Amino acid sequence: MNSIFSKTHFVIFSLLISLQLVSCSHRPSSHLDEYRIGMQEPTLIAYSPVSKRHHAKKLIVIDAGHGGDDAGAEATNYTEKHLNLATARLLRVYLKQLGYSTAMTRDADFFVSLDKRASFANSKNPVLFVSLHYNSAPNKKAEGIEVYYYHSEKDKKRTTQSKILANSVLEKVIQATSAKSRGIRAGNFAVIRETHMPAILVEGGFLTNEKEVKNIKDPVYLKKLAWGVAQGIAQYLSTHAG
Ligand SMILES: [Zn+2]
Repeated sequence: MNSIFSKTHFVIFSLLISLQLVSCSHRPSSHLDEYRIGMQEPTLIAYSPVSKRHHAKKLIVIDAGHGGDDAGAEATNYTEKHLNLATARLLRVYLKQLGYSTAMTRDADFFVSLDKRASFANSKNPVLFVSLHYNSAPNKKAEGIEVYYYHSEKDKKRTTQSKILANSVLEKVIQATSAKSRGIRAGNFAVIRETHMPAILVEGGFLTNEKEVKNIKDPVYLKKLAWGVAQGIAQYLSTHAG
C-alpha cells in the first residue's frame, strides 16, 4: 500500500509541479503566489494609474521569451523563462489597469518558435509588440537594463516608432527600478525583426550579476519593473500613436 500511495503521490506531485510557474520546489508558496497574480490587481504596491483612459481597442502583444525546453539564461534556482513569464503576467495586469487590451504569445511554460511568436503578433495586428527577457554574460559584473529595437532600412517609420518606444520604456523602467541604464540598442532579434508593428525587446537585467539577480528574484522589484514597462508603453501611445 505504501509504495502504491507513494507512486500515486509522486505522480500527483509531479503534475502539480509541472503546473507551477516557478518550478523549484524549495521556494515558499507565498512567493510563488506573488508571481502568479494572474488577473488579480497587485496588492504589494499601491500603484494607481493617473487617469484610466478608454484604450480597449488598442491591443498590445506581450511576448514572454523562451519557454519549455528553451530555458533561456540561468541563475541559481531560477531560469529566465519563468521570470519572463512572471514579468509578462504582471505587465498584462498593469496594461489592463491602464485600459489596454493584451494578447500573450505564451501564458504557460511551453516552447513557441520565434517565427510563431512573430506571426502570432502580425496576425493580431496590435499597436505594438513587447518581448520580455533577462540577460546573462560571462562577465559577472555586467549589470543593467537595455531595450532593443530593430533597425530596418526598408521600414523607416517602424524603426523610428520602435526607437521612440524603446526610449520611453527604458526611461520609465529606470525610473521605477533605479536600475542601471545600458541604453537603447539596435538588435537583430527575430521577434522584433519579423514583426510588422513597433516592437521592442526588454532585457530586464543580468541573472549572472549577484546584486541584480537578487533584485529580480524579489516580487516587489519585478512589479516595479513591469509597471515601468507599462508606463513607458502608455507614454509612447499617448504621445506618438494617438
Ligand atoms: Zn532571453
